[in-house]
Amino acid sequence: ARTRFAPSPTGYMHIGNLRTALYEYLIAKSSGGDFLLRIEDTDQKRYVEGATDIIYSTLKTVGMNWDEGPDIGGNYGPYIQSERKPIYAEYAHKLVELGGAHYCFCAPKEEAEDDEAEENAVPAKFQDPCKRLSLEEARAKIAAGEPYTIRQTINKKGKSHFHDEVYGDIEIDYDDLDEGVLLKTDGFPTYNFANVIDDHLMAITHVVRGNEYISSTPK
Ligand code: GLU
Repeated sequence: ARTRFAPSPTGYMHIGNLRTALYEYLIAKSSGGDFLLRIEDTDQKRYVEGATDIIYSTLKTVGMNWDEGPDIGGNYGPYIQSERKPIYAEYAHKLVELGGAHYCFCAPKEEAEDDEAEENAVPAKFQDPCKRLSLEEARAKIAAGEPYTIRQTINKKGKSHFHDEVYGDIEIDYDDLDEGVLLKTDGFPTYNFANVIDDHLMAITHVVRGNEYISSTPK
């Protein structure tokens, strides 16, 4: 197994984070696998000075040593999301070409682009007028210097399925999912986008995370 502990330095590490890390560590080590540390610092507005140092020192104190991470490197780096911006941009633009995302020029709502607030800020039934733009029209606006975000495009028919080892089979109507921002105007990805790109590229086999992420997993 390859697991990752992927904290956001938006506050000081707490016992709940450490509990999640313990499961990840044990799942990796019980199969002789690797435990990775990845710093998810895409929400620059909520960055807390010193939070990353506490993550390092806490894990070291309890002996949960990581096999790959920002300080020791590895074959799948960099392990700090702010250093991976070009990777997310490449995939976001690729997703637009594949029809899974679109360029959006709606006036940016400060909070709506925030990782955490983004979850609730865009109502599921929000009809993005930018979806009606052709790719050529959108590209012309971008070339003219208009700020844009890249927003997920969701085919509203059908259901999303996934299996969770703790909660079982989860099924959610696509119609209930909001078309959230994947890439913000400043070129930073949102949490929802960055974590799937990274888990894929870093060949993560088991994702262990708080159950507050069940609702965004279908996206
Ligand atoms: N960066 C997220 C957090 O700190 C990680 C969630 C996840 O494990 O995907 O809560």
